[in-house]
Amino acid sequence: MPKPFHPKNLNLADVSEAEDVPCCVCGAPPPGKAEFVVQTQRVVRCPICGLQRVSPRPAPAVLRQVYGADYWKSPDSVLAGYTDYPGDEANIRRTFRRRIKRVAPGHGGGLWLDVGCAYGFLLLEAEQAGYEVQGLEWSEAAAAAAPEAIRGRIRVGSFQQADFPENAWDVISFWDYLEHSPDPKADLLKAYRLLKPGGRLSIVIPDAGSRLARWMGPRWEEFKKPQEHLYFFTGKQLASLCASLGLTPQGREWAGKYARLDFALSRFKRGDGILFPVARAGRFMLKMMGLEACVIYVNPRDKLHLLCQKERA
Ligand SMILES: [Zn+2]
Repeated sequence: MPKPFHPKNLNLADVSEAEDVPCCVCGAPPPGKAEFVVQTQRVVRCPICGLQRVSPRPAPAVLRQVYGADYWKSPDSVLAGYTDYPGDEANIRRTFRRRIKRVAPGHGGGLWLDVGCAYGFLLLEAEQAGYEVQGLEWSEAAAAAAPEAIRGRIRVGSFQQADFPENAWDVISFWDYLEHSPDPKADLLKAYRLLKPGGRLSIVIPDAGSRLARWMGPRWEEFKKPQEHLYFFTGKQLASLCASLGLTPQGREWAGKYARLDFALSRFKRGDGILFPVARAGRFMLKMMGLEACVIYVNPRDKLHLLCQKERA
């Protein structure tokens, strides 16, 4: 029996089936030297195209074990998963409503496929916006816990193995998905095949080229997710890859989210230098003022929303 998932159990050094990973964009083998190591995870930079990735990494079957029920209510969400994904439904859905307007300004409708749909909150909102929706999720725990109103439209499995009709979808969304994928390029190619000519691909992904990522370096939160985040694209690298596959970038913006005031300050840990005591003092002050549970739109400008369009026939 596999060990139950817990961030404290994560140790890539224990994983006997760890495999070296060629670059998904250009196919180059991993360089011998890690750029840096975070929580035992080796992040390497492709010597040919510059894309950062985790290598070696555990086999796909091991990676899938990360996404059990504890992932969605994690004992330490800085290391893995979410503090309380279902409990944050109202904020997540409010964030998604805002993003949907950017995907389809003024003209909703058609077929929408959400890949990595988790509890189906985007499906619920896209349906409200007039779409017919279908979701795909590789975490059985999340799909089983989705609201009953949408559960029947969520399939469990990997995108590469899923059998969806081609040239059929008006919108495909990869929100907080592609960085988890073992092969992002293969997923973009598949999205191209599934979209109708003129259909739109909406990608929300951490941007390794953002100011915050460059300033924080290995302390950037998106690097702190062993076995979870496998690839680290810059916006420029991703846009260029999409364009090369016939998915023309149409627009980009920073993707923020609605969150409690104390959320951003809770992301810092001992080991983050001066940021940890500063954040702790900030949380204390918010609590003293009774403001910690107030919800605001947080946008540290390190997550990208890239909208692409499949070439028209
Ligand atoms: Zn490469």
